[in-house]
Amino acid sequence: EEQNATKRIVILGGAESGVGSALLAKAKGFDVFVSDSSILQENYRKTLIDNDIAFEEQGHTEEFILIADEVIKSPGIPENASMVRKVTRQQIPIISEIEFAARYTKAKMIGITGSNGKSTTTLLTHHLLTQAGFKVGLAGNIGESFAKQVVDDAYDFFVVEVSSFQLDNCYEFRPHLSMLINITEDHMDRYENNINKYIASKFKVIQKQTPEDYFLYNIDDANVTERLQKITEGIVGVSEGEEPAPNRTLPYCLPISLKNADPEKAKEQSLSYWDEENGNIVLNFSDRGSDEQKTMTVPVADLPLPGKHNIFNAMIALQACHILGASPVVLHEGLKNFSNAPHRMEEVAELSEVKFINDSKSTNIDSAFYALDSIKMGEDERKLVWIAGGVDKGNDYEKIRDLVAKKVKILICLGLDNEKLHNTFRETVHVTIRTQQINEAVEQAFDLARPGDTVLLSPACASYDLFKNYEERGDSFKKAVQKLVRLKSRKK
Ligand code: ADP
Repeated sequence: EEQNATKRIVILGGAESGVGSALLAKAKGFDVFVSDSSILQENYRKTLIDNDIAFEEQGHTEEFILIADEVIKSPGIPENASMVRKVTRQQIPIISEIEFAARYTKAKMIGITGSNGKSTTTLLTHHLLTQAGFKVGLAGNIGESFAKQVVDDAYDFFVVEVSSFQLDNCYEFRPHLSMLINITEDHMDRYENNINKYIASKFKVIQKQTPEDYFLYNIDDANVTERLQKITEGIVGVSEGEEPAPNRTLPYCLPISLKNADPEKAKEQSLSYWDEENGNIVLNFSDRGSDEQKTMTVPVADLPLPGKHNIFNAMIALQACHILGASPVVLHEGLKNFSNAPHRMEEVAELSEVKFINDSKSTNIDSAFYALDSIKMGEDERKLVWIAGGVDKGNDYEKIRDLVAKKVKILICLGLDNEKLHNTFRETVHVTIRTQQINEAVEQAFDLARPGDTVLLSPACASYDLFKNYEERGDSFKKAVQKLVRLKSRKK
């Protein structure tokens, strides 16, 4: 570790992942410097000072940065930020916090990526493995940074949620088991509006995996299967930077599907599927080095979360844990005491038979689709008051037009600029209202709702026009609902 002292690590971005990286780099004996273009949060500043780590805020000083041997970039800073471009021009390697932390953990890593469902799947996987008696760390986009926890970890497994921005700057990151839940348009603004670039970024999760490792993927998703096919055929490399190779080794690939399948064929193909008719999910894999076929069947009624998308999330998480050595009995038991993180189809209250659901975590079209889809209702009656809007990341609302027409009776546009949302749906839904006040949105929603209706906040957009983040948006929604509940019950 002494030899690290001469190596200078510069960290761009002084929030959770940046400060975590700084702590790890310091512990490993590097010369560390943190630089942030805006003001640091008080707790992060304090951590840096307490640990004697040099830093600057409200601006980047080139002389301090361009002498780095390696730069760790926060996932929030885009590739085309001027400081990042300067670093690249100097040919200083830029890595992500995940790449850096992964160098130092001895735990087997489980890397979870996808456009939607990462957090839910990460939390469920972590929960199930813990229930099975393993020592399991939880990191990535969730909670405490990976780097910070690696400083002195003694885990069997690390469940790591990885976004495409983190994968963009991964090179040697090699999860023992990876999951690709789905790929749908998101963050197109950061991928030059090129879905192929975004797809390539997601596939980086398997780039360093070997045949000893596992890859669980969504076989119903054409963006996933088409690229996998092309990789296998040697038409494209795994990611942008890789040469295509016809005989490239791949991890053990295990497909997961929400469609029904022939039980025998599924076993042969290690395919996991949903047998909707019989109300079961069926998970298959064959143990490596033996012909032993492992099958696990779980009634859908025993799964902890509502909605089709959550059946998928549960399938992929269960399959992963089964492969990693958890027994079906323990897994089945573990499902019973799982509760999801807030802001994901979270039931907030019911007032005069109107239900309020907080799905603030929905920041793109696909997640909004599943949210709308999961609300049960009568055949030809619309029962949804949908609150949506915010910062649009290049949404194509046409994709959900039919579903909206079927389910939504009132749309409330919440945000600074919801021209596109408003224009797309003003003929499809009965009423549209535009507001920048969450209290107003909630009150209006309640006034217009009838008994039996559901008021759903599932914005399909980022939150930073009116809020700090999706958590603040969700919390404001919940507060507004609770205020309404107090007000109405007093009147009674
Ligand atoms: P992520 O961490 O990828 O953003 P979350 O688990 O936090 O994913 O869920 C984000 C949003 O996407 C929520 O609104 C949720 O209802 C929805 N969602 C969850 N899983 C899926 C899935 N498999 N497919 C589509 N949408 C999903």
